Amino acid sequence: MTTQPATAIRPAELIQRKRDGAELAADEITELILGYGRGEIPDYQLAAFCMAVYFRGLTPRETYALTEALIRSGETIDLSGALGRRVVDKHSTGGVGDKTSLAVGPIVAACGVPFGKMSGRGLGHTGGTLDKLESVPGFRVELTLDEFVDQVRTVGVAIIGQTAELVPADKSLYALRDVTATVDQISLIAASIMSKKIAAGAEAIVLDVKVGDGAFMKTLDDARRLADAMIALGQQAGRRVVCLLTDMDQPLGAAVGNALEVREALAAVRGEGPPDFTELVTTAAARLLMLSDLDVDDAEARRLVAEVTSGGGAEATWRRWLEAQAGTADEGALETAPVVRVVESPRAGTITRLGAIAIGSAALHLGAGRRTKDDTIDHAVGVVCLRKRGDEVDRGEPLAEVHARDEMSADSAVQEVLAAYELGNDAPPRRSILLEVVD
Ligand code: URA
Repeated sequence: MTTQPATAIRPAELIQRKRDGAELAADEITELILGYGRGEIPDYQLAAFCMAVYFRGLTPRETYALTEALIRSGETIDLSGALGRRVVDKHSTGGVGDKTSLAVGPIVAACGVPFGKMSGRGLGHTGGTLDKLESVPGFRVELTLDEFVDQVRTVGVAIIGQTAELVPADKSLYALRDVTATVDQISLIAASIMSKKIAAGAEAIVLDVKVGDGAFMKTLDDARRLADAMIALGQQAGRRVVCLLTDMDQPLGAAVGNALEVREALAAVRGEGPPDFTELVTTAAARLLMLSDLDVDDAEARRLVAEVTSGGGAEATWRRWLEAQAGTADEGALETAPVVRVVESPRAGTITRLGAIAIGSAALHLGAGRRTKDDTIDHAVGVVCLRKRGDEVDRGEPLAEVHARDEMSADSAVQEVLAAYELGNDAPPRRSILLEVVD
């Protein structure tokens, strides 16, 4: 006897209608996703559905139905209700050298605003936020939901791994999209990101949408479309959302690689980070304060950020945060690579381009990222870009440092890093880190 699935819909019919460009009803999408989450609808049908969406897109109504269905596949947290405060969260669509959340969390918390974030690992050139945090000896990324809420209440900041209970259908769907060439579809990305943000319970969210060579969104127009879709989803769920569209044509800051990035995040917490990274951290932190229950304007928010970064308050919160998650707050405990090579400029000129993907690949080949989800990460290795787009350099001047496990991997990384730098005679047009704010 075969068991009749509880699902009333016929997935093949929904795939066909989406393939032919029809709009599906909200309850059809709900059934499809919840049925998939329960294991009643097979991967091959969801894969075909995602491909139909890839070519036909989703309407705003369908995108919201998908987001809601993903959320309903698991548990949700009411962080703001539990704390009696407006908890804030920040998310980035991901880029090379992106350690912004590590600095923004303790800065915002030091200003008196609770910050609670769940993060992923992901595949990529360097690790995700969790991998960066795990380069702090002892750091625990797996807290229970109760521990998470409690830490946001008592320390003001917690960043943990996405728990299995929250939005489980997104986890399966994302893995399926990853192997069926259906990740880079705006509605699917918007629903995937916003379902996790909404389920994790923060009331105010700043989304950093990366644009450029090293990002999902290659053009400003696509980034605007993604931003609009995510803001609409947030508003429908009663959340305050602001999107920062930021440059990812070159790596963010100088450091690319896990422990190296943690050091740079700490520098920014002390107000001593590289200029582009500091600007992004300040803008993201200020925007979160503006969305929070402090009810401050941009000038006051920036004043508060400057006060805690230069006055030591943010660093004290950083230490309390790492220790609360069993990490060692001593910067000297971070692992260092045995081989450090300086990459020298082959000629005098202006840096006209510094490829984000090329630097990310060099870091990946050194061992800083993973190609498959089972790869292990070398936390110590990576690249430090001492010079960036628009800088003038002399022949023989240091462009970058390669931090490697051994001489052989250092040799090939030096070549990759050299190839990532393009030198010319004329300064390239200035491109600021912050391209646009969408709210
Ligand atoms: N990040 C996510 O969480 N989901 C996507 O679909 C893309 C990036």
